[in-house]
Amino acid sequence: MNETPPHFSIKNNYQKYPGKYSDFLTNDILRDICFRITGREEYTVDFIEETNVGKLVLLEYNNAVFYVLVPDLAVNGRNSYFQSFPTSIVKYYNDPCMERSIYFYFLPFKGNNTTNYYKFLYRLMATAGVSFLNTSEYLPFEIHPFTTLEDIVAIRESNRNRNKSNNSTYITKSSDNTVEIFGKTYGANKKETTLLCLALSNILSERAKLYIICEQNLTNLPAPDLAVIDSLNKIEVVQTTTTMERRELELNNSLRSARFIYNLLDKLGPKKCAFCDCDIPQLIQGAHIWPVAKIKRQHQLTLDEKLKYSTNRDNGLWLCENHHKLFDENLIMLNSNGEIQFSSEISGSSLTYLTGSTPKTSLDLEFINENVELYITKRYS
Ligand SMILES: [Zn+2]
Repeated sequence: MNETPPHFSIKNNYQKYPGKYSDFLTNDILRDICFRITGREEYTVDFIEETNVGKLVLLEYNNAVFYVLVPDLAVNGRNSYFQSFPTSIVKYYNDPCMERSIYFYFLPFKGNNTTNYYKFLYRLMATAGVSFLNTSEYLPFEIHPFTTLEDIVAIRESNRNRNKSNNSTYITKSSDNTVEIFGKTYGANKKETTLLCLALSNILSERAKLYIICEQNLTNLPAPDLAVIDSLNKIEVVQTTTTMERRELELNNSLRSARFIYNLLDKLGPKKCAFCDCDIPQLIQGAHIWPVAKIKRQHQLTLDEKLKYSTNRDNGLWLCENHHKLFDENLIMLNSNGEIQFSSEISGSSLTYLTGSTPKTSLDLEFINENVELYITKRYS
């Protein structure tokens, strides 16, 4: 029996907000956390000066270290509520201690923490290895880790607000069946990218790619986050900078741009052919309405303007391989209202085939706007 009682180190990040840690991390709460993890009720406690560790209570006992994520109740809004947790989880993954485990401890919550989005993030945390200590007292559901990529994608998608740009993280599959994660690195969502990668690393059987969409070449995921993702050896990180894209655009007449794919995922949702609704991601490509080769011939435009048009969300459609080819060859065309038309070259059995394999007669109205109409006009001018 170890005579040294469990010892808490509480990071002072909790002090940054009105209502210090001592107001809500009371002796009762610490005793409860201690008992649930170690089976002991007596403990000692220190408050530690340390920044950038998130909201974190460390408990040490018998050479083991227990990370306990405790939400900061002085923080309002779901993004600030969640943003500190991935930071703490990254610190946990980077901890060399072999005997470590990580927990989440609920406190009385202002507002509703049972929304689908909260549930999604709790499940991501569980998939990343977090155990929840007192769920039954605060939530009407249990928190189960995700077991498949498809689960994550489906739940993620059901939380999306279709009417506006979410600027968040997207998962899809490429034509060669590689799992691809597209993450932005600024704003509140960058921490979601990290959390998603940690969760995916625990369930993916094959290596995936994380495309980091950098803004103005200035942003990246935080170095500790990248180090952890790299160390798990499941996800290859691919940086996408505007410098790289400028070079690619100069060299090629097509543009394999992670930013373009990201923008289409952000606008159109998961891959689904605009002409036939095929949603097998391995068959779906990002097609330009105003083709890159044509944009490049606009000598009045600067390179950056050309890049902007080549990656614009309104200049793209999801098309399956067949329809992409037919669109590129102008065997299928769009009129300026987004109606789908067949070339007069096509007749007989080809026309029968095309009619049968192209059930849609128009682009979805929700995706058409003035810009889309402008790109269609430019395509055929
Ligand atoms: Zn199609």
